[in-house]
Amino acid sequence: MEKDSKIYIAGHTGMVGSALVRKLKGEGFSNLIFRTSKELDLKDQSAVTAFFKKEKPDYVFLAAAKVGGIKANDTYRADFLYENLMIQNNVIHQSYLGQVKKLLFLGSSCIYPKMAPQPIKEEYLLTGELEPTNEPYAIAKIAGLKLCESYNRQYGCNFISVMPTNLYGPGDNYDPETSHVLPALLRKFHEAKKAMETVGQIAPTSPAVKSIKTRSELVEVWGNGTPRREFLHVDDLAEACFFLMQHYNDTQWLNVGTGKDLSIKDLAEKIKKITGYRGGITWDRSKPDGTPRKVLDISRIRALGWEPKIKLEDGIKMVYKQKFRN
Ligand code: GDP
Repeated sequence: MEKDSKIYIAGHTGMVGSALVRKLKGEGFSNLIFRTSKELDLKDQSAVTAFFKKEKPDYVFLAAAKVGGIKANDTYRADFLYENLMIQNNVIHQSYLGQVKKLLFLGSSCIYPKMAPQPIKEEYLLTGELEPTNEPYAIAKIAGLKLCESYNRQYGCNFISVMPTNLYGPGDNYDPETSHVLPALLRKFHEAKKAMETVGQIAPTSPAVKSIKTRSELVEVWGNGTPRREFLHVDDLAEACFFLMQHYNDTQWLNVGTGKDLSIKDLAEKIKKITGYRGGITWDRSKPDGTPRKVLDISRIRALGWEPKIKLEDGIKMVYKQKFRN
């Protein structure tokens, strides 16, 4: 990529896309193009065709996707499959027709089998059944990486794919129903802590005290706490994508993570400590646990020279400060 290359970041308002924009701008790339979803509906084939014909990007980062946590994936199954297939088909196909020099497709670690050996190596793809809660999303992402692979093999394109682990960072979704676990817990613990402080400030006889107390003295966390997850700060992912866009030209998709995981119970304890919440935790076992363990083997990308830099504790503290302490 040259500093004046025309680079299209699809999904630039999302958590990953905006991290990519920060990184590219920081590195001095000035010819970046974006469209909001209102300006350009990536599900619309003719609109995407017209956009590529007009703009003729040299490079494409495909970070546009419908994403969400375990409940959103399980509830909006058709939307996750349909929308992601449409977006990636349109962008990847137009990148081929428009002779884009290189495209980077963002997938997800949920493409791997539910019971894959841990840590998960790239070659475990399609060796077993998927986790049912996010199967539609995973199928779309598998189709995306196979589409990139197939355009490379049939037409000699240079479309690379990256499979990040669970991400967090600035611009995350904090909606209690549709978010991922890390932002969901940050918000729940923060709000419970604030509510407890309010209780301390009003007269103990006030009728409001009882209801605030019941709400804030127990934070509800989903599942049984035993599932294990790995978390990567989105700025580390952006570094990896930038690095690969410049130095990696192979069809083999790459895992991007930290290689370290922890249980949801330990994550909850960590977030509880960071937010300063002093109440208890209750486990809502009616909610799904999802895959029991999901930690990536990152030896391939490590061997190329990329390492994650942001430690989980530091990353959570940074995000907490940015989102709730300003
Ligand atoms: P997953 O990695 O695709 O399963 O996505 P999530 O980040 O949504 O969930 C990870 C794990 O955290 C699952 O075992 C959830 O049951 C658990 N979890 C605990 N509390 C919450 C919560 O408040 N929201 C979400 N999304 N997950 C939670």
